[in-house]
Amino acid sequence: MAVWPFSSQVSFNQGNQQVRGRFAPSPSGPLHFGSLVAAVGSYLHAKANNGLWFVRIEDIDTSRVDASAQGQILDALYAFGLHWDVDLQTQSQLQNGDRNCLKQTARLSRYQEVLDFLESKELIYGCACTRKEIKASGGLYQGTCRDKYLDLHNNPIRLKQTRPIYQFSDGIFGPQSCDPLMAQEDYIIKRRDGLFSYQLAVVVDDIDQGITHVVRGADIMPLTARQLSLYQTLEVDPPEFLHLPLAVTKPGHKLSKQNHAPAINSSNPQPELLKALSFLGYAQPSLSNKSLNLDSLAKASPQTILEWAVEHWSQTKINQQTEIII
Ligand SMILES: [Zn+2]
Repeated sequence: MAVWPFSSQVSFNQGNQQVRGRFAPSPSGPLHFGSLVAAVGSYLHAKANNGLWFVRIEDIDTSRVDASAQGQILDALYAFGLHWDVDLQTQSQLQNGDRNCLKQTARLSRYQEVLDFLESKELIYGCACTRKEIKASGGLYQGTCRDKYLDLHNNPIRLKQTRPIYQFSDGIFGPQSCDPLMAQEDYIIKRRDGLFSYQLAVVVDDIDQGITHVVRGADIMPLTARQLSLYQTLEVDPPEFLHLPLAVTKPGHKLSKQNHAPAINSSNPQPELLKALSFLGYAQPSLSNKSLNLDSLAKASPQTILEWAVEHWSQTKINQQTEIII
């Protein structure tokens, strides 16, 4: 029987624990304005709460990784004054060249350990259904293979959903309710191609890094209930979730590598940094306000701009719209 795979010292959101936030880019292309907003938002939230801020490389889906992107992203963050902390809890897993950022591909044995634990609790099963069959039965998986005891090595693996989450409270958007059928779906946690799913990796990473607040783009809000149900299944207190509006070019079209979002310009970070602040609800310059404002900050260093932004952080000013056209 596998033992519970988490340290008993890890406790979440209890008492006066230090805030620990993170930005977790996928190295599928250079940083664009949309990912800059998520980086800046998570950084400011952590720093305004005297917390730590980590950068984690979400390279679990190796088919999407662009070999040069990781370095480009980290260089860009640095140029924008977004300097990350070293996570002492996971430092032993860092390798040369990781620049103090945890990488998912270095953690496969860790994900397997958690999968083994779930297996020992009979909470996972192999599934032989094809995409076509699932689509024909309505699009959501109906648990067809739950009691078939199929091989776990040659099939995708699903989580037996015993703790569905139907609602949660988001730190920006408030109460959220979830489609009950989607909440109950036995979703895939290890894919047919042998890759661990994003859902499993992100939850195990956030637990191991002791993340107290997940600040990220609203495109991931629909997945939050599934992640919360995995925390429940693993009997670990979840972090708080804060979703930021998503930068889109038109409704439903987020900036991404796929739609050729331009890389942010690291050699002149001020304009895009100020634009990101404005996106996050920071006040536009006003003639009556003689204190520093976005206009008078335009010539300051990124570091000075961020210091000002930390001081003036207010998550209540963030627009409660899941998408904002830029
Ligand atoms: Zn199946």
